[in-house]
Amino acid sequence: MKIHNFSAGPSILTQEVLLKASEAVLDYNNDGLSLLEISHRSKAFVDIMEKARSLALELLGLEGKGYKALFLQGGASTQFLMVALNLLEKKAAYLNTGTWSDKAIKEAKMHDDIIEVASSKDAGYSYIPKGFEIPSDYDYFHCTSNNTIFGTQMKSFPDSPIPVACDMSSDIFSRSLDFTKFDLIYAGAQKNMGPAGTTLVVVKEDILGKVSRKIPSMMDYKVHISKGSMFNTPPVFPIYTSMLTLEWLKNLGGIKAIEEINEMKARVMYSEIDLNPLFKGYANKEDRSNMNATFTLVNEDLKETFETMLKEAGISGLNGHRSVGGYRASMYNALPLDSVKALVEVMSELETKA
Ligand code: PMP
Repeated sequence: MKIHNFSAGPSILTQEVLLKASEAVLDYNNDGLSLLEISHRSKAFVDIMEKARSLALELLGLEGKGYKALFLQGGASTQFLMVALNLLEKKAAYLNTGTWSDKAIKEAKMHDDIIEVASSKDAGYSYIPKGFEIPSDYDYFHCTSNNTIFGTQMKSFPDSPIPVACDMSSDIFSRSLDFTKFDLIYAGAQKNMGPAGTTLVVVKEDILGKVSRKIPSMMDYKVHISKGSMFNTPPVFPIYTSMLTLEWLKNLGGIKAIEEINEMKARVMYSEIDLNPLFKGYANKEDRSNMNATFTLVNEDLKETFETMLKEAGISGLNGHRSVGGYRASMYNALPLDSVKALVEVMSELETKA
């Protein structure tokens, strides 16, 4: 039976990518060696790394604009700290839109003075605050473009008088934006790129080297840039798989092409949530995420029936995050429209049964 994978992360990868990745595990390029047993300094892997780095910049429209792409380790969670270590001299401004923003603030607070320009914590992070001011005498502004747990997404970004750092873990490469508005972007691979184990960082070089602290080498973007993202042994398999996904996306027509498909999936999903009286959306309508749709059952008595039907239809990974409950349909780039249609069909069938 076909499984429809709505997992929030690690999450669905395309069959094409999985096939190529699995072939490389057995025999990379018909050289008789696995990708997993060759030196990361070999030409074969250096080519992969360089291709992944340039594809990332190309897809974001940032080639030749002073940006560098790095594939690092430690997850997006390490970036919470690394951003602060590299950019924070005295004070920084954060927008608090969810658990991950909150964690980023906590990490940065260990060092210096942080203000929250706005927060939606008091409303269970169900909306994106708007109309806030970004002070011009701060070192940088940090935001989270898509809130994976609560299902909200920033639809526009404020004009900022200071450098902008953005956690795009759960919507990178999913929609067209003017990426030059951002000075630093980071994203764990395990949603729109590849398996867990690497984090993409795209940074504008001229914002670096401005803090007075001594930054430990592994935490220093400049060190990673100077070593071509090979300061230490990189996670070869997640990077190779991410490169394959970026290649797949480029062949599909890039971000513009996938954005159209993502918008269609979100329209189908949210219209069912809104029209079916058995379900209620969690996030504020205008801030709804095209990647993670969060919703609950109005009548909890139907939980068992609904979940049995989901299982029978091969729908997997729909449980909401433990802090929100209910359901979360993650519709990342690799999820086909057919999977969303399969889920919507179960939801409407439940309505006829109830
Ligand atoms: N930021 C966002 C928006 C996330 O969704 C996640 C993980 N789900 C993280 C940060 C943390 O990523 P990691 O587990 O790679 O540290």
